[in-house]
Amino acid sequence: MTQIDKSKPVMVTGANGYVASWLVKKLLEDGIHVHAAVRNPQDHNKHSHLVDLAKRSKGSLTFFKADLLTPGAYKEAMEGCELVYHTASPFTTDVKDPQKELIQPAVYGTEYVLLTANDVSSVKRIVLTSSCTAIYTDAIDTVNAPGGMITEAIWNTSGSIDYQPYSLSKTLAEKKAWEIAEAQDKWDLVVMNPSFVMGPALNPKHTTSESMNTLKLMAKGDMRFGAPKMGVGVVDVRDVADAHYLAGFTPEAKGRYITSAHNSDLLEMGTVLRPKYGKSFPLPKKALPKWLVMLVGPVTNKLFTRRFIRNNIDIPWRADNSKIKKELNMSFRPLKETMEDSFQSMIDAGVIKAG
Ligand code: NAP
Repeated sequence: MTQIDKSKPVMVTGANGYVASWLVKKLLEDGIHVHAAVRNPQDHNKHSHLVDLAKRSKGSLTFFKADLLTPGAYKEAMEGCELVYHTASPFTTDVKDPQKELIQPAVYGTEYVLLTANDVSSVKRIVLTSSCTAIYTDAIDTVNAPGGMITEAIWNTSGSIDYQPYSLSKTLAEKKAWEIAEAQDKWDLVVMNPSFVMGPALNPKHTTSESMNTLKLMAKGDMRFGAPKMGVGVVDVRDVADAHYLAGFTPEAKGRYITSAHNSDLLEMGTVLRPKYGKSFPLPKKALPKWLVMLVGPVTNKLFTRRFIRNNIDIPWRADNSKIKKELNMSFRPLKETMEDSFQSMIDAGVIKAG
């Protein structure tokens, strides 16, 4: 049982990120002083939305400069904090050198942040943003899991440097976190495992998260002839922020939490947008047959390898989210609301335009 004193500052690594920005908003609205650790505090484009949020909230914000690849870089930001959120980790599929661009910042970053916590006497709890990809690589893994769905008891065993290296980066980083946590008893670790995060960005023009790219592709018409029925879990970014908040401040929070609202697929994500946006945007109407994806997928998108298509297209994605609902009292927004709000925020920001 860990009680966090809300009068003490709370640290958030990667505070400007898509997910972290909503968490920072929530903390600021609760009157908390946030220590926002970012790579480059001078980059106004990436952080001005947080400054604006702080001006309108009860809480306050101080920026600290820190990079995941520098040992000890987060120490100054951590001083005085009882609660640390470690969200920073690269989330992109567009990499040339996965070891350098994904694995090293994810694993070394986690190691450095958690080891620093051993030296900062104030720290009582660390909430790590892991991912459902630390549990599974392909939708087929969820179907093949005991009971036909993934649970917090399962670890990803199929991600590799050559196949879905992002999943490997999150798996290795979370394993490292548990190893460091179990070797001490000064602070406890709570891990969030979100599925694919959707929902409005607080800084849509400058959000680089992979989450935004799927919507950009749909808006551009890349799926006008159909979307692959690719099994995926979806959760709203605002719900992910709420879940992080609850994980930080619920004394009994413990272990891993699958943070996923909907067992869905890419086609459903597109079709729920059609009633509102189907007239103005070339959104997908029907499923692309698997044989066609096999034929054209590998040519049009380097992620769509034969192995990926075999293991994800026309395969349902299933996760058990009962632990977070029961222990953190979480409830989730409907998929339609999440998708519509995501799309609208990108339209409002001029990131996507009707054709
Ligand atoms: P994002 O907007 O790209 O945020 C990633 C954050 O990590 C950014 O603040 C980024 O800083 C920071 N970062 C990356 N490399 C860094 C480095 N070397 N040193 C310091 N900071 C670094 O992506 P996101 O979607 O919000 O992801 C946030 C977390 O959620 C990640 O841990 C991700 O794995 C996890 N997650 C995301 C999803 C999803 O669907 N979005 C699902 C499950 C889990 P810069 O802005 O300076 O690059």
